[in-house]
Amino acid sequence: MAKRRRVRWDRVAMVFGPLLLLIIIICVSCGGSNKSKKSPSEISAEQPSSMDIVEQTVPLQSQPEMTDTTVPSGTSVTAAAADPAVNYKQELIVVIDAGHGGNDSGALNDPNNPTRMEKDDVLRLAQATKKAFEKYPNIRVIMTRETDVFVELKDRCSIANSAGADFFISLHRNSALTGDGVEIWINNDAGGDNTMDKLLATYIMELLKEVGISQDRGIKSGFRNSSSNEQSNNYYVNRNTDMPSCLVEMGFMSSETDNQNFDTHLEEYADAIATAVVELVTDRNLFEVETIQ
Ligand SMILES: [Zn+2]
Repeated sequence: MAKRRRVRWDRVAMVFGPLLLLIIIICVSCGGSNKSKKSPSEISAEQPSSMDIVEQTVPLQSQPEMTDTTVPSGTSVTAAAADPAVNYKQELIVVIDAGHGGNDSGALNDPNNPTRMEKDDVLRLAQATKKAFEKYPNIRVIMTRETDVFVELKDRCSIANSAGADFFISLHRNSALTGDGVEIWINNDAGGDNTMDKLLATYIMELLKEVGISQDRGIKSGFRNSSSNEQSNNYYVNRNTDMPSCLVEMGFMSSETDNQNFDTHLEEYADAIATAVVELVTDRNLFEVETIQ
């Protein structure tokens, strides 16, 4: 009787062992496939993000096109340019500021026998520059004056600030009795980051040089005859505008060479200024410029 009750474990194992093994394999394979398989929603959520990365890196790759030689040392890519998520604006606004006007004639070619006034020259250049921008339909130019009128410096700045302009370019001609050449003034960095101002001025200078100027007198920061690097020592229009700005001294009123260059190359200079802005925003991926063919 005792023999009958004995369980034959070896037989039990032979019968149920493979069955148990089969159940374990099925369970493991089901569990494994659940982990590796993504639900349709997981897949669709992942795909756009990987596409975003591709889209974001493409514009940045074009940045090295900017030649380092034209960038002053110490400048770096701005946060806006480096930000791959930057959204292009619909319209770029550029303020062209013809210096002086009305009772304020600015510099004269000859103080004893003036036949030429700075206020007239810079108005001509401003008007030509406005025209040069016309081939770019999504760039809007705002002029601080279009006729021979006096405009206060603070009004010139508030025109630009209230329009939310992207760039402010003030046009002048130099007043010293001797000397020649073009110089461009920007804010010193006491008031904050002047990287974009420097780039704007550099692009303008490079393109003016391609047209031809008597001398490149440099990109200068601050205010003439001031060595102090304080915010107060900047040109008023540079100091009080909220956007990147520069003040271009388009040669000396007292220089025959500069006057001749000014008259001969007026439209080319205007074109150079417009092209400088277009190239700057394009190189830095700040704005997508449309062009009328
Ligand atoms: Zn002036």
